[in-house]
Amino acid sequence: MLSITKIFSFEAAHRISKYQGACSQVHGHSYKLQITVSAGMPGDNDMILDFKVLKDLVQNHVLSLWDHSLILKGNAENRQFFLNYPGKIYWMDSEPTAERMLIDISRKLEPVLPDYVNLEEIVLFETETSYAKWRK
Ligand SMILES: [Zn+2]
Repeated sequence: MLSITKIFSFEAAHRISKYQGACSQVHGHSYKLQITVSAGMPGDNDMILDFKVLKDLVQNHVLSLWDHSLILKGNAENRQFFLNYPGKIYWMDSEPTAERMLIDISRKLEPVLPDYVNLEEIVLFETETSYAKWRK
């Protein structure tokens, strides 16, 4: 099995609605995102996947939606609070924890990868010392 990993970063704000503590306030993170894909053998171009192709897929399907956005659960409370917010909001079905964001990323990327490429692992850092990991 061969794998390649590309590291991305993006800025976003979020809040955890029902959280007892500071995370219930809107606050920002400089997220670091590591995407690992794998395959049994390199393809016709002797690569699993061109890093440039992986970069474009993550940019188009994740970062374009999330970078410099406010990420919120689309519940009634948040929709009322941010009704007139003129900025970029990404609404989620669940609270925008790192764990739920990983699941969202996997659902966006798996369908757009070439058939012979597996989405192997996603790591999302909220801070330098706190991260969540998704593995197939
Ligand atoms: Zn946070």
